[in-house]
Amino acid sequence: MSTEKKNILRIDASTLQVSDCARQVYLQNIQGYQPKRGNVNLVWGNAIHKGIAHWVLTRDKDTAIQRALDYYEKQELTYTHPVKDEISVEYVLNKYFIAYKEDSFAPLEANGKLAIELPFKIPFYATPKTDVILCGMMDAIGTESKPCFKDIKTSSSYNPNKYFTTYENSLQMMIYTWVIKHLGIYNYYLPVVIDGIFCSKSGIKMQRSAPIDYSPLVIDRMMDWARKRVAYITQCYETNDYPYNFSRCKHEYGTCTFIDHCKMQDAYQEQNLSGNFTQRTYDPTNF
Ligand code: SF4
Repeated sequence: MSTEKKNILRIDASTLQVSDCARQVYLQNIQGYQPKRGNVNLVWGNAIHKGIAHWVLTRDKDTAIQRALDYYEKQELTYTHPVKDEISVEYVLNKYFIAYKEDSFAPLEANGKLAIELPFKIPFYATPKTDVILCGMMDAIGTESKPCFKDIKTSSSYNPNKYFTTYENSLQMMIYTWVIKHLGIYNYYLPVVIDGIFCSKSGIKMQRSAPIDYSPLVIDRMMDWARKRVAYITQCYETNDYPYNFSRCKHEYGTCTFIDHCKMQDAYQEQNLSGNFTQRTYDPTNF
């Protein structure tokens, strides 16, 4: 029996979402590069997530806000945003705490612990050389009129109901409901409720979606796609060949962060990475 240590690949929904470009998977996930200066929308959203998670667990407003601000203040940002500053982090969190003081969503409780901020790491695919772990972090599992899981989303959308329909085919949510069943927490695919925090120039709005159900047939087909994608990424990894796909650089959320890098001659790329990016271990269970 071989005693050679196997390589570990951590794959999450975000990695699968960009898997049309193996080069992006390589830079973002395998090498763990992220811009030295963070995207304000992402940083703001993470700060809100951190504050809410702390508040749901402790019901302590002040430390929840402090936790969110501590995170926000540590980040260097590419640009500021007229709405998404530190003042709005505190303002939005206070609004959320008032809106959900009497929350109709009740988190599941097991062994004295609430099912909030739940990391998962599941063996998903393997070759003789590589083990692939499917991982991520779920916001909460509980009940909202019926058993469901909850995902907090921040958005600039003006139309919450239209925004919620985008989750009817969400890869991330289908993976989460698959994980809940796979881990035996429920023996069927749970629906998701989206806890929407809408922040635009017209103001702040809190709105929660009705439970969104996923067909078992669709989930099974989606997970089949995910496995094939993972097999492709693993093959790129083992052959150290990550093709560029320039047809994926622009997408509905903007432009890929590596666009300048990818258009450079090879000789300049390393310098570009060390000048503009930091490198860390990609770990979706720790955002
Ligand atoms: S910029 Fe384009 S080619 Fe480069 S990693 Fe991003 S999607 Fe791929």
